[in-house]
Amino acid sequence: MDCIFCKIVSGEIPSVKVYEDDRVLAFMDINPLNHGHLLIIPKAHAATIDEITEADFLAVMSATHKLAAAVKKALSPDGMNLLQLNGKAANQLVPHLHVHIVPRWSGDGLTVSQWEIVAGDMEKIKGVAEKIQSEMGNSK
Ligand code: 5GP
Ligand code: ZN
Repeated sequence: MDCIFCKIVSGEIPSVKVYEDDRVLAFMDINPLNHGHLLIIPKAHAATIDEITEADFLAVMSATHKLAAAVKKALSPDGMNLLQLNGKAANQLVPHLHVHIVPRWSGDGLTVSQWEIVAGDMEKIKGVAEKIQSEMGNSK
């Protein structure tokens, strides 16, 4: 398959690896947003959250948890953004699921996650919550 991250998994494209297990690979982002920016991916190709198996997603999340602790110890950031984009509309560039860990320092100037806070319409919020809740088959 013509997928950059599958080629990183197979070794066809080199990468700076930081962690690997049966299901997961983590490597440094080649265009880092900040010092220590890394990516965690499933080894099995899945473009987005709709495609990945629950087992692979849990493995990616578990590795993310461990890597976040390692980044904290290694770099002592003041904070960290975890980012995971799905689909072109969400600005996903590489269609192989990945979680970004972006270490953050106070005053680092990055604009990741600085959205405007605008109060929502409660009727709309409740309506959409009902729709999602009914798909979950859970009325609590
Ligand atoms: P996204 O799809 O979430 O928008 O971001 C894709 C990320 O993959 C970007 O941060 C980009 O820098 C990174 N990336 C793209 N190609 C490569 C590559 O060949 N090697 C590495 N290490 N990172 C890459
Ligand atoms: Zn792939």
